[in-house]
Amino acid sequence: MDSQQFREFGKAAIDFVADFYDNVRDGDVLPSVEPGHLLKKLPENAPEQPEDWQTVFKDFTSTIVPGTTLWHSPQFHGFYPTGTSFPSIIGGLLSDGLGVVGLTWMASPACTELEVVTMNWLGKLFGLPEEFLNCSSGPGGGVIQGSASEATIVCLLAAKDKMTRRLKKLNPDIDEELTKIKFIAYTSDQCNSSVEKAGVLGSMKMRLLKADASGRLRGETLKKAFEEDKAKGLIPCYVVANLGTTGTCAFDPLYELGPVCQEENVWLHVDAAYAGAAFICPEYRDLMKGVEYADSFDVNAHKWLLVNFDCSALWVKDSYDLINAFDVQRIYLDDVKAEVKIPDYRHWQMQLGRRFRALKLWMVLKIYGAEGLRAHIRNQISLAQHFAKLVRADDRFIVEPEPAMGLVCFRLAEGDILTKKLLENLIEKKRIFMVAASCKNRFIIRLVICSQFTNKDDVEVSWKLIKDETDKLIPNDKVHIKSQSIASINHIQNISICEKSK
Ligand code: PLP
Repeated sequence: MDSQQFREFGKAAIDFVADFYDNVRDGDVLPSVEPGHLLKKLPENAPEQPEDWQTVFKDFTSTIVPGTTLWHSPQFHGFYPTGTSFPSIIGGLLSDGLGVVGLTWMASPACTELEVVTMNWLGKLFGLPEEFLNCSSGPGGGVIQGSASEATIVCLLAAKDKMTRRLKKLNPDIDEELTKIKFIAYTSDQCNSSVEKAGVLGSMKMRLLKADASGRLRGETLKKAFEEDKAKGLIPCYVVANLGTTGTCAFDPLYELGPVCQEENVWLHVDAAYAGAAFICPEYRDLMKGVEYADSFDVNAHKWLLVNFDCSALWVKDSYDLINAFDVQRIYLDDVKAEVKIPDYRHWQMQLGRRFRALKLWMVLKIYGAEGLRAHIRNQISLAQHFAKLVRADDRFIVEPEPAMGLVCFRLAEGDILTKKLLENLIEKKRIFMVAASCKNRFIIRLVICSQFTNKDDVEVSWKLIKDETDKLIPNDKVHIKSQSIASINHIQNISICEKSK
C-alpha cells in the first residue's frame, strides 16, 4: 500500500468511524451472531495474494462489524464504561503513525516526556498529593500502564521486592525464598477479579476480607486479619483498597486502612479504576480521604475519561520501589545521562517496549480541557440519578444500594428469581445490555451510564425497555392492587395497634 492508497483508505476509515458514532442509536446493542460465526465465515489460512483495500474494507463492514457489540450505544449499560472520543482516536492514530517504541528516553524523547507531563497534569487534576507527581525534588511519579490489572500486579511485585529488601536489611541471614512464601496480600471480597488474579500471577496468597454491609473493607477487619496471619508466622505485604468496587461502586475508607498498613510497613495500593475519574471534580474528593497513606494509586483514563483503551494511569510515591524491583540492564539499553530527572519507564512496567499512549491522553486533556471532562462526569452522574428516580417511582422495584457515580443497582421486590429472569429476557432481546452483581446476598441488576452520547431521552428509552419487560413478568395493575392492599393492610394494622394502645 502506498501513501496515496493510505490517504484514501484512511479517509474512508475516518468516515466510517464518524458515521458509526453519528448513528450510535441505530441497531441492537448486542450482535445477532452465534458463537463461532466468524470462525465459520473466514478462511482458515491467510491470503496468499494481496487484496486491495476496497475489498478488505468491504469485508470489514460485511463480516466483522455485524459481530461487534455496540459499547458506545446509550443502551449499553454493562460493566463500566470504556472510553472513546474523537480526540483520543486521533491521538491513537497519530501514535500509530509515528510508530515509535519508547523503551528508553533516546528511543523517543517526546514519548517519555509527554508521559511525564500528562501524568503530572492528570495527577494535579485529581488533587493527588504532590509526592505522587514527577518533580525534581522527589522520587514519585506517574506512568501509563496497559490496564488496572497490570498496575495491581506491577505494584504487588514491587511490594514483594521492597518487603524482601527491608527484611534482609533487618536480618541479612534470612533465606529470601523461604521468606517470600510467607508474604500475604489483602483486599475486600468486593474486589475486581483482576486483584485476585494479581495474587495468582505474583505467587502471593490474596485474602479476600469480608466487606461491611455497605461493601467497604474496614480498618478493623484488616487489622484483625494482620494479627491472625502474623500469629501464624505469615508476613502481611500488600493491600489493595478499592475506590469504586465493580459490583456496587463502594469506596473503602483509605483513612482507616492507611494507618493499619503504615504500622506494619505494608504497601497500600488503591484500585480506583472506574470511579477515580470523578476526583477530577473537587466535590467527590472526600471519597479518597486518606490517599496520603497510599504507596500507589491507579485510575483507568480508558474507562470514564474519554481516552480509548488502553491507558491506565498509575502513580507511585517512590519510583525506586519499581526500579529496584524491575531494573535489568543490558548494554544496548544504555541511555543518555540527563541533567534533569527523566524516568526510565521500562523499569516501571512489566514489558520492555512501550507505545506512545500519552498522545491520546494529551489530545483529550487539551481538546476537552479540565472543564469539559468535569462536565462529562457530572452529566453522567446526573443521568444515573435520573434513572434511579424513574426506578424508584415504580413500586415493583427496589434500588439498593444507594446509586454511586454513574451506577444504579436495582432488583425486583418479588425476589431474585424474577430479577434474574428480567435480566435474561432483556439480554435475549439484545436492545439493552446490563450485567448482574450481588448485594447482601440478593441478585441485583447493574445499570451504568456508559456511553458519552447518553442523554436524558436515552435514559428514558432504557427505562421503558426495562419497564415493558417487567410488565410481562409482573403486570402493573397487579402491583397497583398489591400496593393498595398492602396499604390497606398497614392501615388496618395501624388502627388495631392504636386501638390496643388505647
Ligand atoms: N478494578 C476495577 C474496580 C474495575 O472495575 C475493573 C474493570 O472494570 C478493573 C479493576 C480491571 O480493569 P482493567 O480492565 O483495566 O484491567
